[in-house]
Amino acid sequence: MPFELPPLPYAFDALEPAIDARTMEIHHDKHHAAYVAKGNNALEGTPLSDISCPFQVCARLGELDDSRKTAARNNVGGHANHSLFWEVMTPGGSNQPTGPVADAINNAFGSFEGFKKTFTDAAATRFGSDWAWLYVDTDGALKVGSTANQDNPAMGSEIAGIAGRPVLGLDVWEHAYYLNYQNRRPDYIEAFFSVINWDKVAEMFAHAAS
Ligand code: MN
Repeated sequence: MPFELPPLPYAFDALEPAIDARTMEIHHDKHHAAYVAKGNNALEGTPLSDISCPFQVCARLGELDDSRKTAARNNVGGHANHSLFWEVMTPGGSNQPTGPVADAINNAFGSFEGFKKTFTDAAATRFGSDWAWLYVDTDGALKVGSTANQDNPAMGSEIAGIAGRPVLGLDVWEHAYYLNYQNRRPDYIEAFFSVINWDKVAEMFAHAAS
C-alpha cells in the first residue's frame, strides 16, 4: 500500500498563537502532501514499497538502488518526520513531561530546563533546513541531536549523523515558521515548547526504550 497523508489530529488554527493556521494548512496540505506523493514515487516497484511505517523505510534506505535512494531519503524522510511532528503537538500542550520519560530527561540533562536548553541550542544552531530531535540512541540512552534536510535518527549515523528512535522532533525549516516568525527562529522554538504533547512523547519513549 502506498503512503497516505495522515489527517492533522486537530484543526489548522488549534495551535495558535504558537503556530498560525495558514502555516499549518500550507505545511500539512502542501509540503507534507508532496513528501507523501514523491516518497511513493521513489519506492514504487522496490522491495520497500509495501512497508507501512515510513520510519522503517528510513532504517532500510541502504537496500535501495542509488537511483531511488536520495529521493526516498528526502521524501519518505519528510513523510516520517512530519507524521511524527503533528503527533507530538497538541492544543495548549502540557508544560512538563511526567513518568519514565521525565525521569530519563532528568537523568540525561540534569533537569527539564537543562533539556530545554540543550534542545533549543540543537534547534537553533544548525545552519539551513533541519530538524531537532529527542531520541533514544542505539545504546538506549536518551539524547538530543539535529539532522540536516529531512534526515532523522532512524536512518542511522552513516546517513543522518545520529542513530536511534526519535521520541520528539521539531521542524526548523523556514517553511515551518516563516509566515509568523520570519527570521526569529528562537521565538518559534520557544513557542513550540508551549504545544508539546508530552503524553505522546511518553508513549513513544516507552516504545523506543522497550
Ligand atoms: Mn516541514
